[in-house]
Amino acid sequence: MKNVAVIGAGTMGNGIAHTFAQSGYKVALIDISQDSLDRGLGTISKNLDRMIAKERITEADKAETLGNITTYTSIEEGVKGTDLVVEAATENIDLKLKIFKQLDEATDANTILASNTSSISITKIASVTNRADKVIGMHFMNPVPIMKLVEVIRGYATSDEVTDLIMDLSKKLGKTPTEVNDYPGFVANRILMPMINEAIITLHEGVAGVEEIDTVMKLGMAHPMGPLQLADFIGLDVCLSILNVMYEGFGNPKYAPSPLLVNMVTAGKLGVKSGEGFYDYSEGLKAAKLSKQFAK
Ligand code: NAD
Repeated sequence: MKNVAVIGAGTMGNGIAHTFAQSGYKVALIDISQDSLDRGLGTISKNLDRMIAKERITEADKAETLGNITTYTSIEEGVKGTDLVVEAATENIDLKLKIFKQLDEATDANTILASNTSSISITKIASVTNRADKVIGMHFMNPVPIMKLVEVIRGYATSDEVTDLIMDLSKKLGKTPTEVNDYPGFVANRILMPMINEAIITLHEGVAGVEEIDTVMKLGMAHPMGPLQLADFIGLDVCLSILNVMYEGFGNPKYAPSPLLVNMVTAGKLGVKSGEGFYDYSEGLKAAKLSKQFAK
């Protein structure tokens, strides 16, 4: 496996492209938005500079990594001749089904089609292709170049051979893959999202404020980041959509999203990416302060 295409150059897509390119793979980075591609490449370049400053890589390594990435705005052009496609486009089921139909037609029949989806069924995605045995979940964590875990999700029909290949490939990227089955939220979000949702419900009920809730979980449970700040980093819209998938998928009210989360997403308060969520990021990540809405 040498040639990889990554669909989507957003938060996750640029990190996935960075990780493959740094491990020597030729990467076609594809996005419908030229602006996203430019921003994605800019982020990769900045992240590589940070690694140079920490003396983990050299200027030559940076040039080689960037040289391994080519950008495209057309899926058909970008996926030509690729052995693997990793889809990391917006978390929307209709969009993903459309993209996988397109990929099934545009790639060689042996190409493995992976999705970085946080919660959408791999079995459902595979059902719109003629190669369900070669469709798999490759769920990287944010920020991709740093986080070690890849949750490898087997759809109902994913073959042993393809699963083994993706487990091996993840190790070649320096990651630790973990194999899980295809049920709503997989493992990572099935456990994480109810905790984040409960933190938001706790806030909404007035049990404690944003800082208090995050402090309890950071200092009391040794979490590096409180659940409300983590929700801001993930994106409140992403959290809401994952909770909805689990709520519908299990038909269990314990996954019902907090009305406060729904309201914040409706109001466009999406966390870091919109500049405000539970915290206000208008002066940068390091200067994050409580959002006005939650300040005492
Ligand atoms: P994002 O909004 O940052 O980026 C999505 C990108 O997809 C955008 O650049 C958009 O222009 C592009 N896109 C939309 N339609 C497209 C199309 N038809 N063809 C090509 N590109 C298209 O989103 P993100 O946070 O990077 O999430 C991407 C995927 O990764 C989602 O499935 C999400 O659930 C998953 N994920 C996100 C996180 C996280 O922490 N953000 C973590 C793990 C997995």
